[in-house]
Amino acid sequence: MEKDLMSKIISLCRRRGFIFPSSEIYGGFGSGYDFGPLGVEMKNNIKQAWWEEMTRKQENIVGLDAAILMSPQVWQASGHLTAGFADELVECKKCHHRFRKDFLKENKCPDCGGELTPPRKFNLMMKTFVGPVEDEAAGTYLRAETCQGIYLNFLNVLNSMRLKIPFGIAQIGKAFRNEITPGNFIYRTREFEQMEMQWFCRPQEADKFFDYWKTQRIKWYLGLGIKKENLRAVEVPEKERSHYAKRQIDIEYKFPFGSPRFGGEAGWQEIEGIHNRGDWDLSNHSKHSGQDLKYFDEETKEKYFPYIIETSAGADRSFLTFLIAAFHEIKGGRTKTTKAVKEEEVVLRLDKRLAPIKVAVLPLVRNKPELVKKAREVYQMLKPYFTCQYDELGSIGRRYRRQDEIGTTLTLTIDFESLKQEDLTVRDRDTMLQERVKIKDLIEALKEKLEK
Ligand code: ATP
Repeated sequence: MEKDLMSKIISLCRRRGFIFPSSEIYGGFGSGYDFGPLGVEMKNNIKQAWWEEMTRKQENIVGLDAAILMSPQVWQASGHLTAGFADELVECKKCHHRFRKDFLKENKCPDCGGELTPPRKFNLMMKTFVGPVEDEAAGTYLRAETCQGIYLNFLNVLNSMRLKIPFGIAQIGKAFRNEITPGNFIYRTREFEQMEMQWFCRPQEADKFFDYWKTQRIKWYLGLGIKKENLRAVEVPEKERSHYAKRQIDIEYKFPFGSPRFGGEAGWQEIEGIHNRGDWDLSNHSKHSGQDLKYFDEETKEKYFPYIIETSAGADRSFLTFLIAAFHEIKGGRTKTTKAVKEEEVVLRLDKRLAPIKVAVLPLVRNKPELVKKAREVYQMLKPYFTCQYDELGSIGRRYRRQDEIGTTLTLTIDFESLKQEDLTVRDRDTMLQERVKIKDLIEALKEKLEK
């Protein structure tokens, strides 16, 4: 049943232009995915909602967009080339925990008993070459996490923006990891997007801010429609933590796939990590670059490495989470007026901020030129204000179903009355209630509905 749910979601994504397999005509490539016309709208909406929350709504968080390609010394300093990443690794095919081969007593996963991949000299960093000569000197890596670009710009941002601790730097961007076992659709891929905020604070305030940001981040998911019972925060035990983390909490969602981590129920999988990175990054970059990345605290007259609290979310994993949470199947169809003999109907109950299409415009029928003309006029009028779709193909019921299936928030229908009364019906996706609104008042009315 649960597996079935994933295949229905994957099929919807493909059929309706949310997500396609990458390089499909060549048989796919590296378990990558491309976001289609509706997918890119929805993903942009997720990133926009995160940016709003983490920069505009905050007083002391600024944004950054750093380069993907950085000096290879960055990865030496960050520990990505040394801290276990370049050893012989095996990965459990079930729970995805990775182990140094030489640390294992038996050839099975010590956490869940699952089958292991063959050992490989494995570094998750993706190597590439910069410039025309492919030799060691030109080698670097595609970034494995976006945050390093933030640490490198710590002083640039601090000085140019005249900031004082505590403050944050937020960034959204692509990251690359040569995952041994990608899978579960877009849950684990080799190219993905992160939405990260790094909060620089006094070391003695790190615990307080860790708890603060954990609460804020959970609220963000709940505020966008994730149910409380499907979300949890798990304290990660020391031996499981990332090499830089003094403390780590994983925010997990109950997915319809996946084996249990650290024991417990199946399905719970990480969507975001909250980390207390201590002074790991700034002190290591100081050491490796020879630059003094300490902060002078004017209040206490002390010089120190700020501690960093990181909130690290995945745009793709958030996408999958919101999609699964929104997916509803209604047996026998939604309409009560006709007999319930129809097959299952799908409604994507996405939060209106995330829905890829906010407004669909439909003429009641397409063989009446006056209706089509009016509907197209309305569509042209609304296009600059909302993401709109014009749809005239098929019966009106079918078109409503098509819009419900892609999560369109409001559907407008131009009928014969509209021609006389200069109005139309506005149908709400979730309640299916219809309301007549005058065309002259439409933009304001829709703004009101979509923004409140
Ligand atoms: P996992 O244990 O699942 O491999 P991680 O602990 O290595 O994840 P972090 O390094 O904490 O992940 O990265 C922060 C976030 O980036 C994750 O919570 C996730 O949302 C996203 N992320 C990490 N790796 C991937 C991936 N391969 N595909 C998609 N998203 C990812």
